[in-house]
Amino acid sequence: MTNEYDIIVVGAGHAGCEAAAAAANMGSKVLLVTMNMQTIAQMSCNPAMGGIAKGQIVREIDAMGGYSGIISDKSAIQFRMLNRSKGPAMWSPRTQNDRMMFASLWREMLEQTPNVDFWQDMVKELIISADGISIEGIVTGMGISFKAKAIVLTNGTFLNGIIHIGEKQIGGGRTGESASIGITEQLVSLGFVSGRMKTGTPPRIDSRSLDYSKMEVQGGDEVADKFSYLDNTSPFIGPNSIKQIPCHVSYTNQQVHDILKTGFEKSPMFQGRIQGLGPRYCPSIEDKITRFSERERHQLFIEPEGWNTVEIYVNGFSTSLPIDVQQKALQLIPGFEKAKMFRPGYAIEYDYFPPTQLKLTLETQLLDNLYFAGQINGTTGYEEAACQGLMAGINAHLKINNKPALILSRHQAYIGVLIDDLVMKGTDEPYRMFTSRAEYRLLLRQDNADIRLTPLSNKLGLANKDRLNRVETKIDGANKIINYFKNNSADPNTLNPFLESVNSAHLSQKTRYFNVLSRPNVSAAQLIEQDTMLLKEMSVFDKETIEQAEILMKYEGYIEREKENAEKQIRLEELFIKPDFNYNSIKSLGAEAIEKFIKYKPQTIGQASRISGINPADISVLLVYLGR
Ligand SMILES: Cc1cc2nc3c(=O)[nH]c(=O)nc-3n(C[C@H](O)[C@H](O)[C@H](O)COP(=O)(O)OP(=O)(O)OC[C@H]3O[C@@H](n4cnc5c(N)ncnc54)[C@H](O)[C@@H]3O)c2cc1C
Repeated sequence: MTNEYDIIVVGAGHAGCEAAAAAANMGSKVLLVTMNMQTIAQMSCNPAMGGIAKGQIVREIDAMGGYSGIISDKSAIQFRMLNRSKGPAMWSPRTQNDRMMFASLWREMLEQTPNVDFWQDMVKELIISADGISIEGIVTGMGISFKAKAIVLTNGTFLNGIIHIGEKQIGGGRTGESASIGITEQLVSLGFVSGRMKTGTPPRIDSRSLDYSKMEVQGGDEVADKFSYLDNTSPFIGPNSIKQIPCHVSYTNQQVHDILKTGFEKSPMFQGRIQGLGPRYCPSIEDKITRFSERERHQLFIEPEGWNTVEIYVNGFSTSLPIDVQQKALQLIPGFEKAKMFRPGYAIEYDYFPPTQLKLTLETQLLDNLYFAGQINGTTGYEEAACQGLMAGINAHLKINNKPALILSRHQAYIGVLIDDLVMKGTDEPYRMFTSRAEYRLLLRQDNADIRLTPLSNKLGLANKDRLNRVETKIDGANKIINYFKNNSADPNTLNPFLESVNSAHLSQKTRYFNVLSRPNVSAAQLIEQDTMLLKEMSVFDKETIEQAEILMKYEGYIEREKENAEKQIRLEELFIKPDFNYNSIKSLGAEAIEKFIKYKPQTIGQASRISGINPADISVLLVYLGR
């Protein structure tokens, strides 16, 4: 058995899988140690990827050469672009996925990745160097030691996990899987701070027991798109395309709420047995009926779990109430009168490590070459976990090869926003991504993640040449289209009937296509359809390139303004603060500011300005001193 590796990744959830793939694809010899090989890339909760802001993250992971986008596409049973009616910064791809296929595809991709070895076991202990400053390896439950130059911990919800259902408490990291014991205790003894968080999941139902005629149908997009910038990744696109599976919508009602309330006295949440904070934006049904008691009903999405199973996920009905209460309440939902449960809903409490203990590379401040990624850092969600895994894998590889770290900034990627938020501000409740967290969201669109990130990733040796060629072709094509639209004019006779049909004023003379496109009700696809001349010119470009050019033209002014703002921020990011800077020497800084600067050790003025509790006056004082 080989016991020495470049990098060991602990845990094969979404973070661990991306970490292992990235490090191995960059050339590191990787060992992926996970408790159960059957649950690699298990979707612990909803069988879906992407959504608002999360979809942008999946596109970014794909643009960097990660696998989550490809696997989400291949295992999709439905695709929707959310927020199409809003501006392009808000467009968010989302797939409903076949849960089992998602996991098996991940395992297949990893097995086909050279440089990845696997070991099924529980990691119980970390091996620390004799001088106590760096990590050297792991010891497993079977008593085997593995050595590595860097370790990435991605334990998810497993660290001292406790599952709650009504008054029952069961030790576990997920239902049917054991909790991870030992790591938290050791890290805390070494000086790390840990905390508790909680999350929950709804019951799973037998589809054959549901009456769909009482529910609304929610289909996928008529023309499905995909996450990956590569071809042939979606089953819904191309000559052999297959039909998407619809979801359904139903609602709770007052009777359902009344039954749920009968379980409150046994609720682990309301009786104080759960201490950890749960995800604010993904509350349990008992939380919803309490916090929004004025609402008569709550929407539920009935989501199929895959192509070849009758199991159904009841999105919106996460609960940890006693099983009999769950069952009774479910049967009062329209369409659920005869519902049979496969598995009950439950809540889980687990340890996390406040992420302010990390560097922006996701390496811990206390132990060299130890990285944390995913739910262990206080985040929630597959996408948030996957992108941290990718970045930890990349940075672990770069560090052990003495190469400069990769830190994505806030104007470059949602991934940059997420890591910067975690490290500089921390979080005491499960952190999920929103578009509102990004100050430059018009720059961080799902359509341009490849333009933003693929060239960068290619330079690191991760995104391959094929990806880079595609991006270059797209950029070149979009420029040519913009050039054509700016320098050629539409004929009024050709376009006026169409313009009238969309309530847009007639053209009285030849007008540049660019100006016609800037009108609110006019799209590039419509212009191309109406104008044979334009159709001929545009026929050499694919849909994605035309869409890219269209967004750049339609939102030109806004995008330019946002770029200018980002550049101002970049200037602050380029003002470096020496690691040994003596904040105590600045008399005019308040005690709180000094304490926070010493704690968070910002490397730049930009980072210093984002620490919570730091105000513009503190930054002005700092700037004056740095100026001196
Ligand atoms: C019940 C439940 C409900 C959830 N609800 C939601 C929700 O509503 N919304 C949402 O966005 N997210 C939800 N999540 C969270 C979501 O599942 C996670 O955000 C995501 O899976 C985190 O990915 P990860 O890679 O960090 O960890 P995980 O996916 O949890 O993977 C951790 C991996 O590490 C392995 N592991 C752990 N400890 C060890 C060890 N010591 N040795 C070896 N291997 C180890 C495990 O076997 C597992 O493979 C829920 C999770 C659970 C369990």
